[in-house]
Amino acid sequence: MIRVRFAPSPTGHLHIGGARTALFNYLFARHNNGKFILRIENTDRTRSTDEYIETIIEGMKWLRLEWDEGPFRQTDRFDVYRNYVDKLLKEGNAYYCYCTPEELEQRRKEALAQGKSPKYDGRCRNLTKIQDSRFKIQEKNPAIRFKMPQEGQAVVDDMIRGKVVFENDQLDDLIIMRSDGTPTYNFTVVVDDVDMDITHVIRGDDHLNNTPKQIHIYKALGHEIPLFAHLPMILGADRTRLSKRHGATSVMAYKDMGYLPDALVNYLVRLGWSYGDQEVFTREELIKYFTFENVGKAAAVFNPEKLLWLNSQYIIKSNPEELADMVMPFLENAGIIQKGQNIDRQWLSKAIKTLQERAKTLVELASSLRYYIAEDVEYNEKAKANFLNEKSRALLSELKDSLTPLSDFSASSLETIFMAIVEKHGIKLGNLAQPVRVAMTGGTESPGIFEVLEIVGKEKTLKRLDKAVKAIKGGN
Ligand code: GLU
Repeated sequence: MIRVRFAPSPTGHLHIGGARTALFNYLFARHNNGKFILRIENTDRTRSTDEYIETIIEGMKWLRLEWDEGPFRQTDRFDVYRNYVDKLLKEGNAYYCYCTPEELEQRRKEALAQGKSPKYDGRCRNLTKIQDSRFKIQEKNPAIRFKMPQEGQAVVDDMIRGKVVFENDQLDDLIIMRSDGTPTYNFTVVVDDVDMDITHVIRGDDHLNNTPKQIHIYKALGHEIPLFAHLPMILGADRTRLSKRHGATSVMAYKDMGYLPDALVNYLVRLGWSYGDQEVFTREELIKYFTFENVGKAAAVFNPEKLLWLNSQYIIKSNPEELADMVMPFLENAGIIQKGQNIDRQWLSKAIKTLQERAKTLVELASSLRYYIAEDVEYNEKAKANFLNEKSRALLSELKDSLTPLSDFSASSLETIFMAIVEKHGIKLGNLAQPVRVAMTGGTESPGIFEVLEIVGKEKTLKRLDKAVKAIKGGN
């Protein structure tokens, strides 16, 4: 059974890169009917916070990257790490190191000055039992180091990069437990992967250099080495590593900007993975098609315009009822409705249906719903100057009079009224529709004018026409 994990360190929000790693793990697990585990790597207590754990979980849930086991927190697992340290010590694969941080720093500097590798010089690696107990009697608090092989090679079998070879003599005897009894990063990763029976490690390629060390720990623990997939970096348009300089990088910021979670997922999967020329995928298709054969080696460039385009595609294909639910918080934020205000969802869906083709984000959708929902509209100055004038005043006034007795306020019945006026005066529909549009929406762009009127409804329509007539200079 395939078992993979997403193992974020909660030292920041869930960002684009982390979300892509989570997504690839999730898709790989689902594609293979495996298990997807969420593990929080919070042993670095100075930088990890519970708040970040919450926001990472929130981001995963928003993207619907459902995990099967966890979230496990490393801070709940110190006993497990201790047991594995004891095993390594007992079997001669780890040793106590009594060197103090000051001594280590001193030696590191000396080595560097002599142009040598600053790695640990192995001083405590071969202490005799007597030396060791002598130090213990002195009550020195030792750290525990892993005994790295000093010759030969470590081969990382990577599903993306193929075989990557590292020379063992470059590897340090890394500390696996500090003198204060806390385990260290590279060690806890391996212990957890062993303990959780992880078969495939899918993570960012910033971890590739850790992998040879980790491989030796797997071996020492007598565990099969998982297969690896180190995902290429995500870059900004200037081909430097994606960072805040390139715009929003946190997943939840995209939620706030009105992106649909499925659009973001669709965008993220294409950062490194492809399936022919297809750009838009359902979740089911992603699960069905996802394999590492189609993950490229090259770094992916984050392209906000493409994400925006995908988002607009997802808005177009969403059903209006779903969008009605999703847009509610955005209407509140824009002050178009009051917090907690109820709004007829069926009516809202109808309004949304007329706008789906135009709105690229939920923020835009909310903003274009304003004239449907608000009591009143404000005119765009230019639109007002161009269309609310002496000539249109009479037309608007006539339209208002024709609409006043109308009981069927449907788009088709409205069309009949409009056409009658147009024919009577021998004008084009636009000559009437544009001033009405400005009266109804404040601007010159909107969905079909009959639909707009139908949705805004008779009462508000009459009010707005009346206001426009009065707003025109020379009006009463
Ligand atoms: N905790 C690591 C990180 O957030 C991931 C380690 C791993 O996946 O092995 O970068």
